[in-house]
Amino acid sequence: MDKIISEDLEKIKGTVKGYGFAGKRVLITGGVGFVGSWLCDMLVGFGANVVVVDDLSTGRIKNIDHLTKTPSIKFIRSDVCVFESNDKFDFILHMAGHTSPNEYQVHPIETLQASALGSFRMCELARVNDATLMFASTSEVYGDTEVIPTPESDWGKVDPNGPRSCYNEGKRFAEALLMAYFRKYGLDVKIPRIFNSYGPRLREDGIYGRVISRFIMQALANQPITVYGNGKQTRSFCYVTDTITGLMLLMINPRAKGEVVNIGNTKEVTILELVDKVIEVTKSKSTIKFQPLPKDDPKRRCPDTNKLERLVRWKPKVSFEEGLERTIKWFSGKDQSDSFSEEEQSSPFNSIKTSSVRSVRVRSS
Ligand code: UDP
Repeated sequence: MDKIISEDLEKIKGTVKGYGFAGKRVLITGGVGFVGSWLCDMLVGFGANVVVVDDLSTGRIKNIDHLTKTPSIKFIRSDVCVFESNDKFDFILHMAGHTSPNEYQVHPIETLQASALGSFRMCELARVNDATLMFASTSEVYGDTEVIPTPESDWGKVDPNGPRSCYNEGKRFAEALLMAYFRKYGLDVKIPRIFNSYGPRLREDGIYGRVISRFIMQALANQPITVYGNGKQTRSFCYVTDTITGLMLLMINPRAKGEVVNIGNTKEVTILELVDKVIEVTKSKSTIKFQPLPKDDPKRRCPDTNKLERLVRWKPKVSFEEGLERTIKWFSGKDQSDSFSEEEQSSPFNSIKTSSVRSVRVRSS
């Protein structure tokens, strides 16, 4: 396996004690995605039996290629919205979803389906198995909140029918659904709200790319760095090992039952600061190309993580500088032909012409 990733996995193992996972049967939807594939590595490493469900709409199978010969992991290509199983599970991790703003606005219906129909399926499966259900929620449920740092008690500021609503309202619905199962059936639900996370395996290409991976690839190729708006909007970037550590600690901790918990790094940086850092580390000759700010792009984002610290004694360990350097090192070893085409360089928000929405599934049950 890749050296940077294996070193990082070892570091997570130093914090998350594995015995709670050994022999457990875990279903993970979206298991070949960025966060999902790191969870697969950890769970398999800890001796769990893992079933991955993924329709490959946004994830990459190569993220778990190195695990395919391991008997304790099984891959099923399926849309979570239609997935059924009679297998027994101790944990269900519903990580499937469309997370890139560019991409989910091209696929708004699938995005809503994964959160609504997919979550409904996973709630029912967890209920019949009496399993722990963890759902990947998001900082996006706070929308363009003015409460910074944002605690879980903040209700957020979200446009219910704006272009990002397919993502944030879908996630809000799913949170409500899990809490209904918790209140009605006592289901062991856990709802991490994941803030911007990054690291090796974060997609960088086309509409799937996120800001850090896009900027790194642009800088490595000495191509213009595409800053949306004036670049003064902020995000707080959490290195993937810290995200995965937080998720695994929550998954196993009984005190997190029925809890909504922020996971993220509390260092807030502007997009322009990110550009400077990426250029500095890569020693790139890239210049900045300003592009229009997408509608409803949140102005600031930074979590209050006191609750997570209190519940599972978790604190991020990896600084922004260290995480960025590791990520750049990982991307530097990648095939540079993954860099952007001219068309992809222009803001996808302005260039979406056709939508490749699959047909909407109508179910009788
Ligand atoms: N962004 C940017 N240039 C890009 C991609 C993103 O300036 O090429 C900005 C985007 O407008 C947002 C931030 O970077 O303010 C984070 O974008 P991302 O797509 O990673 O996810 P978000 O945090 O908005 O969900």
